[in-house]
Order: sequence, then structure tokens, then C-alpha cells
Amino acid sequence: MSKKFQIVVIGGGTGGIMVAAQLLKKNSSLNVAVIEPSEKHHYQPAYSLVGAGTYNLENTIRSEASVMPKKATWIKKYAKELKPTDNKIILADGEEISYDYLVVTPGLVDNYDLVEGLTEAMKKDNVVSNYVDSEKTWKALQAFDGGNALFTQPTTPIKCPGAPQKAMYMSSDYLQNKKKIGDKTNIIFATNGSVIFGVKEFRTGLENALKEYDITQYYKHNLVKVDGNKQLVYYEVTGIEGAVVNDKNNAPKREIVSENPLIVSIPYDFLHLAPPQQAPDVVKNSPLVYTEGPNQGWMHVDKHTMQSPLFSNVFGVGDCVALPTARTGAAIRKQAPIVVDNITSLMKNGKIGSMSYSGYSSCPLVLGYGKMLLAEFKYDSIRDTDPMIKPFVDTTKPGWLMWILKKFGLPFLYWNMMMKGRM
Ligand SMILES: Cc1cc2nc3c(=O)[nH]c(=O)nc-3n(C[C@H](O)[C@H](O)[C@H](O)COP(=O)(O)OP(=O)(O)OC[C@H]3O[C@@H](n4cnc5c(N)ncnc54)[C@H](O)[C@@H]3O)c2cc1C
Repeated sequence: MSKKFQIVVIGGGTGGIMVAAQLLKKNSSLNVAVIEPSEKHHYQPAYSLVGAGTYNLENTIRSEASVMPKKATWIKKYAKELKPTDNKIILADGEEISYDYLVVTPGLVDNYDLVEGLTEAMKKDNVVSNYVDSEKTWKALQAFDGGNALFTQPTTPIKCPGAPQKAMYMSSDYLQNKKKIGDKTNIIFATNGSVIFGVKEFRTGLENALKEYDITQYYKHNLVKVDGNKQLVYYEVTGIEGAVVNDKNNAPKREIVSENPLIVSIPYDFLHLAPPQQAPDVVKNSPLVYTEGPNQGWMHVDKHTMQSPLFSNVFGVGDCVALPTARTGAAIRKQAPIVVDNITSLMKNGKIGSMSYSGYSSCPLVLGYGKMLLAEFKYDSIRDTDPMIKPFVDTTKPGWLMWILKKFGLPFLYWNMMMKGRM
């Protein structure tokens, strides 16, 4: 016989805990279970600071027990299979869990296999990622004594898509102004994107940083292969030539490897990258995902209600869902109340609630030690501003106040407010 709950939440990360805590704050008699195998909960936004030696990794980790809402049933197991037609979940040990309502929020996973040579390359000391091990980034940065520092990202969607840039700006500030080896360092940014940031209001702030750190930029470069022994990264260049901006005279040039398709290689001495990412298997192999197109394998939800179009008692939150906005904790802060409102409303009167998710997300772009630009936006790359922030700062301009928010304010709010269902 399967165990039955009114609401089951898969994943006790940012999204899962926010939803469970808010549901129980609204109605403490709800019968809520959270399926989460991990004993630890991670505050990932601070990894960008750990990678620059200005935050302790230890402070990003707390026990899962400390964030789990007291009134929730914690199922300390791994969800293996979703059977939404039967309102059932199969756990890794074969146990069955039934539900009236399901919230799917197991985040996403890295998949090194999507880039040739990446698994081997990641074992090298000079190939690092704040997504994987931010302490290794800081170690490698300190050991770097000049040459090519290449920052790049894959063609798959990634969480916090600004994070590869954050690593680059922080590293640049460290190498130029702290280690003082700017004159023998080439900072290079290579991306599949065509502009530095999708929302135009924030571009000037970023362009100033690119200029200040003299960063060579290669756009429309699709990461295809990493050779960790030869220290080369290979790209397929799409678009006409792949825009090249600010190409420093002393920067080792890209080499053309093949003409059709156009493949180039870029040499590096230090490489920071975001690994390719995808929805976890439990989502990817379920009936809840897009089966074709660019969102294939990611969970399909209505972009305003977060409800599955196929199963009206199923909702998705966070990194596992496909929405035309950035996957961030900030986005989840706005998604969670919508899901809570919809589920409680469905329980009460059989109808979905009236709240609508606008696509809000934000990216705290740290541009150096003591400097941050908070890019906030919603669907269609339209600039947006949280009412809590609007009265205090012009977010298109980098500033010290925003840095303080990133380093101290946001972690405090995360642990004490968001994880408690208070915001
Ligand atoms: C380097 C970096 C910088 C970032 N910077 C920022 C930032 O500045 N601002 C910001 O807002 N966001 C930032 N983010 C993104 C943010 O951390 C994520 O978007 C957010 O944590 C996603 O929440 P989630 O609940 O979807 O997934 P997660 O928080 O990753 O949680 C998923 C949970 O599900 C569990 N799980 C996985 N599979 C299963 C399964 N099969 N069964 C049960 N449980 C499962 C996992 O153990 C995990 O606890 C950053 C992320 C990184 C890596």
C-alpha cells in the first residue's frame, strides 16, 4: 500500500522548501511531504563569491533538517519515477507515494557528456567551475600567473546564466587590481549568445566592466570540445563570422580547425566554464516534459500559473521547468506564491487562483570586489524592479550598496525569511 499525502513536493532545495514552508504557513493543518534525499541544503548564489575568495563555502551549507518545515513529513529518499496519471511517485527503493497535488522541483543536473573531453578536462587543476567546486576556482585563480584566462558556457540552458560572467569579472578584478598581473593576462569571454546581456538597460554597466578589464569577447561560439591536455577549447562559430570585439593584440589568436562547419580553437592557461545542464532523469523521463523543440526534456508548465497543461494537479517550480526567463532563486521567490495560491485555491473551490507569474528573475552581477549591478527583468527581456528595491537604488548602475546586499543581505533573507515561508 502506498503512503498518501495531500501535497507532495519533490526536492527540498530552494523551490521545494519555499513552497512547502509557504503552504504550511498558510494552513498548518495541510498534510505536506517533501521528498529530498540530501542531508544538506546549499545556498548556491554565494558560490560566485567563494570562487573569488570573499565568502566561506561552509557558510553556504546548512543541514536539510534546519530548513525543513517542522510540520512537513520529510521523506529522505530519491524520487525515481513519476506516474501522474495514477497520482503516484515511485521512490528509488520501490516504495510508492500517492498525492492529491504534486509540486515538482528537483532542480537540474550537470551533464559533462554533452561536451567532448569535458569529463577528463574537469580533472585538471586549471579547469574550474563555480557550478561544481567554487573553492577549486579560488585555488586555481591564486595559482594562475599569467596567460589566457578563458571564461565560457555551454549551449544548453543553465541556471543563473549570469554566473559565468560573474566569475569573469571577479577574477579580472583579482588579477588586475589585487595580484597585479593584468599586463600579462588575457581575459577572454566566449559564448553562444549574441550580446553580453539580453536586457538592454543593463548592457552599459557591463560594457564598462568589459572595457575596464580589457576583455576579449567572442560571440556566437558554441562550445563543442575541451582538450584538457593541449589546453584548447573548440567552438563551432555560428552567425556570419562570430562577433569579435576588443581583440587584444597580444591575445593568442583563435585557430581555424575546419571551415565547414567553422570550428575554431582557443588556447587557455585557466579555464572557467559552466557545464552543460539538463533536467534530472526523474523529470526528463516523465510525461511532464516537452517532447520536442528547444525545451525538450524540461518540464512543461503554463508560464503564468506554473501548472502542468496535461495534469491539473501538478505544478513545477524552479530550475527543472522551461520558462522564457532566467533560472534563479530570485525567480523562485516569485513563482512559489503563485503555486501556493493555485493549490490552496484548487483545494478550496476547485478553481485555480488569480495570481500570475510575470517571469520576474534577477541576476546580481558582481563586477568586482565591492561592486554589483542587479539586473532585474521579466518575460520578453523587459526590465523590472522589485518594489522592495525600487525606492533605494537605480539598479542599472553598479554600486557598493548592491554588493552589501549580495554578500550579507540576500543570504540573511534567504535563511531567515525565504526558507521560513515569510517571503
Ligand atoms: C554558481 C551559481 C550562482 C548562482 N547565483 C544566483 C544568484 O546570484 N541569484 C539567484 O537568485 N540564483 C542564483 N543561482 C541559482 C539558484 O541557486 C537556483 O536557481 C536555485 O537554487 C534553484 O532551486 P531549485 O529548488 O530549482 O533547485 P535546487 O536548489 O538545486 O534544489 C533541488 C533539490 O532537489 C533534490 N533532488 C534532486 N533530484 C531529486 C530526486 N530525484 N528526488 C528527490 N529530490 C531530488 C536535490 O537534492 C536538491 O536538494 C546560482 C546558482 C549557481 C550554481
